[in-house]
This record gives sequence, C-alpha cells and structure tokens, in this order.
Amino acid sequence: MVGLVVEGLCFLAGVCLAGTLGALLRTAARRGREGHFHELFERCPDALVALEPESGRILQANAMARSEIGYEAGALSRKTIAELIVPEERPEAMRNLADLVAGRVEVLRTERRLVRRDGSIVVTDCAVSALRDASGEVVRLLACLSNITERKQAEGRIRYLAFFDQLTRLPNRQLLHERLCQALSASARSGEFGALLLLNLDGFRCVNDTLGHGAGDALLKQAAVRLQAEVGEGGTLARVDADEFMILLGALGRQPVAAVEEAKAFGLKWMRALSGAYALDEGEIHVGCSVGAALLCGQQQTVEDLMRQVNVAMRQAKKAGGNALRFFDPAMQRSLNARTVLEGELRKAVEAGRFVLHYQVQVDLAHRIVGAEALLRWNHPRRGVLAPGEFIGIAEETRLIVPIGRWVIDAACAQLSAWDRHAHTRDLSIAVNVSPLQFQQPDFVAQVLGAIRRHGIEACRLELELTETLLQGDLERTVETMRALKAQGVRFSLDDFGTGYSSLQYLKQLPLDQLKIDRSFVRDIVTDANDRAIVDAILAMSRHINLPVMAEGVETPEQLAVLRESGCTRYQGYLFGRPVPAQRLLAPRSALAS
Ligand code: C2E
Ligand code: MG
Ligand code: MG
Repeated sequence: MVGLVVEGLCFLAGVCLAGTLGALLRTAARRGREGHFHELFERCPDALVALEPESGRILQANAMARSEIGYEAGALSRKTIAELIVPEERPEAMRNLADLVAGRVEVLRTERRLVRRDGSIVVTDCAVSALRDASGEVVRLLACLSNITERKQAEGRIRYLAFFDQLTRLPNRQLLHERLCQALSASARSGEFGALLLLNLDGFRCVNDTLGHGAGDALLKQAAVRLQAEVGEGGTLARVDADEFMILLGALGRQPVAAVEEAKAFGLKWMRALSGAYALDEGEIHVGCSVGAALLCGQQQTVEDLMRQVNVAMRQAKKAGGNALRFFDPAMQRSLNARTVLEGELRKAVEAGRFVLHYQVQVDLAHRIVGAEALLRWNHPRRGVLAPGEFIGIAEETRLIVPIGRWVIDAACAQLSAWDRHAHTRDLSIAVNVSPLQFQQPDFVAQVLGAIRRHGIEACRLELELTETLLQGDLERTVETMRALKAQGVRFSLDDFGTGYSSLQYLKQLPLDQLKIDRSFVRDIVTDANDRAIVDAILAMSRHINLPVMAEGVETPEQLAVLRESGCTRYQGYLFGRPVPAQRLLAPRSALAS
C-alpha cells in the first residue's frame, strides 16, 4: 500500500500538482522514505483522498481532506466516495470514475459538491488520477480536492447582482434576454407562439419628481409584488427599466390569432393589476399603466426585433393616451422602417446639401407680384423631388430642422441678393417658413441678421412666417425675439391662421405684419357658408387691428371673387402660380392671373 502511495504521489507530483507540493513530493520520492511520504501526504495543504478503483471505497484521506469533509479518519475509511457526493451528482460522478478506470480519460477534473458530516455542502474542484501497476491495471485512484465553496458563493452573488434587479428582486433585462433567446429557440423547434409584453407605469416620473425617489421606489416595489402575484409561474417577469416591466409568455399554441387573443387577455389583466391606487407613506397616489405587446415566433425573429416591436407597440399605447394595450402589427413596423430609413437619408441630405428652394408668387389686388414664398424641396436621390410634408415632421423630431432652417434663410437671402441686380425683381420680398424649434434657438436673431448682412440685402425684404404653435410656448421670449429682428426691419407673417389657437389676445401682443388665412378655409369658401363666415370674421378683425391679410391656396377665379368681395387684398395660390425654381418664377403666367 505504501509503495503504491509513493508511486501515486510521484505520479500526482508529475501530472496533477504543480508548485510547492509537487516539489516536496518529488524530493520525498527521491529520498524513498516511506514514513516521510506519509507525513507529507498527511500534511499536504491540499485535500488528498486515495480510493479503491472498483468500489470507490476511501482508503486514506489526509488531514486537510478530513477537515474539509468534516469526518474523523476512522469514520471516513468506512465510506465510499459516492456516499460523500450529493445524491443528484452521484450517477454522473460514478460514470466519470468508470471512464477513468477504463482508461477513457487520463485525469478527471470536475466540480463536485460533497456533503459534510454536519450535512452542510462543500463545493470542491476535484482532480482524480488512476495509478497503475506494471501490467497497466488500475490499483488506486487519487483525488485532490480544493474547496471552492467561497468562490462559488461569490460567483453566485455576482450572478445575482448581474441578473436580478436590486430594488424589486425581479430578474433584470440581462436575465430576460437569456430567457428570450431560449424561448425563441424553443418556439422555432415547437412552432408554438409566445408573447412579450412591456408594461409601463403612466405618470411614474411625476411621482418621482413630486414625491421624491423614495416614494418612486416604494411604488415600484408594490407594483412588482402585484405583478408577481398575478403572473405567478405563468411567465417570466422582469424589471427592465425604471418603471418598465416585461413579461415573457410561452406556449400560446400554433394559431397566431388565438395566441394574440390570449396574450391580450393576460396583458389587460396585468394592466388592471398595475393601475389604480397605491398607498405610500406620502399618501395615496393613482397611476395608470400602458402595455405594448408582440407575438414571439422563433422563425427569423431576434431578441432585438422583439424588443423593438414591444417598444413600438408601447409608443402606440402611450399615443392613445395611456391606460391602453397595443399589440404590435407589421404595418407599424413598416412605417417605422420607412421612417428610420428616411431619417438616415435626411441626415445625409443635410451633409450633402441636397435641398433647394422653390418659390411661389404672392400677388396684390391688381395681381402684381409683390413677393414669393420660399418652399423647401428635397432632391432625393431615388425618389425625386420631395415636398416638405414628407420630411419636415422628421426633421423637427430629429432637430435636423435647425441646420436645414439655417440653410433656408441663407439661401433665401442669397436669392434676394440676386434679385437686387434686376430692376423688375429688386422690390420683391421673400417669405420664409420658420419652425418653432428653429425660432427658439438662442442664436436665431444672430443667425438671421448674419445672413442679411452676408448677402447685403435689405432686412425689410425678408419676411418670416411663424405658426400658431410657436405662440403656445414662452410668449414673452417669442415677442422679444421678434422685436429684436423687427428693430432691424425683418417682417413677420402668421401662417396657417385659423387652424390652431387663433386667439385675438396674442395677435395684439405680437409685432406682426400680416396674417395668412389657411388654405383649408379658402378651399370651400364658395360653397361652404361656414368657411365664408370664418374668413369674413378674420378679415373684419384684422381690419380692426390694422393687420393686412393674405389668402393661401387660391385656386379658382370664383374663390378669388369671394375673397375680393370680403375685402382680402393679397393672394397666393395655384391660380397665380405653383411653387417653381427661382429661374422659372417670373416666366409668363396664365392669362387668368395676369
Ligand atoms: P405653407 O407655409 O402653408 O405653404 C403653403 C403650402 O401650400 C405649400 O405646400 C404650397 O405648395 C401649397 N399651396 C400653395 N398654393 C396652393 C394651392 O392653390 N392649392 C393647394 N392645394 N396647395 C397650395 P408645400 O410646399 O408642400 O409646403 C407645405 C408646408 O411645409 C408649408 O406650408 C410649410 O408649413 C412647410 N414648409 C415649406 N417650406 C418650409 C421651410 O423652408 N421651413 C419650414 N420650417 N417649413 C416649411
Ligand atoms: Mg408658409
Ligand atoms: Mg400656410
């Protein structure tokens, strides 16, 4: 036995162990003193156990092994290694040992959980080697165990921190991501649908802002408890953002319509559970809940697709005023895709300067051209010339309207400067549309005055068209900005009048030079008595405050006749000319308009 141990130690020293222990064992083996080996075996700082190959019976365990496993030497020698391994790992452990004995593996390295005498568990990193005699038969197994319990606990804690939300103790976005990957492959295999639901608390930010983060946290904890009670084992619930929860539902069958219906029913139930009254220390508060949902089907869908889809659906739910559930449908995706593409193209267009201005004439009572409105066009590489209706909205949302608007003002001033050189265009003015965001830029005044100066034009030939939405913001600042420009001669027109706020109150406060009646009133003015009455009222009021009025969208002689009769003296519309590039603006016009 001792001889075998010595051989085994040499083997271990050579194959498994490195460092100090290996060196000690090699020295001891060279000296060939068995007592010495025993002592070394016993005092080795690693836990060493010698086993009988067939039965796995423990023949010898050193002090460290006994202390790790919590047994006296005598008690241990009556046991097999299998008895020390936690029951659930036993079958696999025995298969591994059999592989080792049969020579299918040379050294076995595994992680094993052992049961100590007191019943507690010790996690070990375990290296086992087979010792063979001269004929190659396995005579002993030698196991070297290192206690990695603490490391495993730390790993567990790290995993918890990485995968669970600290506030609500729910799985977080990372863990949900893992589960979603699994759910997608399961769905691809089974052909069954699942669903992902995103729940967002309406008005959470307001609770945070007004009652403080403590109240916000308390609200979220309560919301998590409510949801957990409702969802139970039926789905994976996770907190994915400040006030956002997600629930993954699996196994909704193979019929998409039925799957949507079932997911909707769950979603509505959870929405009701989350919305309503919450008792906080600060008092009772009420919040709503919006739900965005998407169907999960493993075929060609990625986690990112799903996330995008529930967010699109959520936006729709919020758009509907909150406390609503919306299911993602492919049409939403198509419009989203188109928008994303357009946004990218718009950015490139700004860099590449793909915009042009078209001009539409504005005429007086005698149909003389007094000026033109500059109307933006985008020379799209594939789609041709695009009108503002197709891109101004996105430009405003993405703030690209700021550089675009700056370019428009500069281009209009350049055009005025070009017109300066000819007698018949010298007196024409140009009206430029200005978006609220552009107007609100702190350097807007400097921007406009800079362009005027750069192109050496008279400021009074530049007219800025503002819309009523601008007036809903900080009216005082708006007036201040207008006054600063007006002091230099720039003129202002209020565009699309009648469609928005239409309050007389601010009309008096604003340094305006003109009102433009929206073309929606002009369109039916001949046939619709109501529209005519509105136009009459606008004209009467503007006469009262001495504000000239221009009618937009004049298309027919009949419309013109009614407007004239009502006292409107300035016109713009297809009747007098469509928006055209500057070089075509002053070409001969239709007989009607001349
Ligand atoms: P808007 O300022 O009210 O401009 C008048 C719009 O009515 C123009 O459309 C013009 O083509 C159209 N129009 C003119 N006469 C007639 C007519 O007789 N019948 C009909 N049906 N339509 C007529 P456009 O060029 O598509 O511009 C649409 C809107 O886009 C403009 O409305 C303006 O709000 C905005 N916009 C245009 N250029 C710019 C710009 O440079 N900057 C900003 N921020 N907005 C712009
Ligand atoms: Mg306009
Ligand atoms: Mg208009």
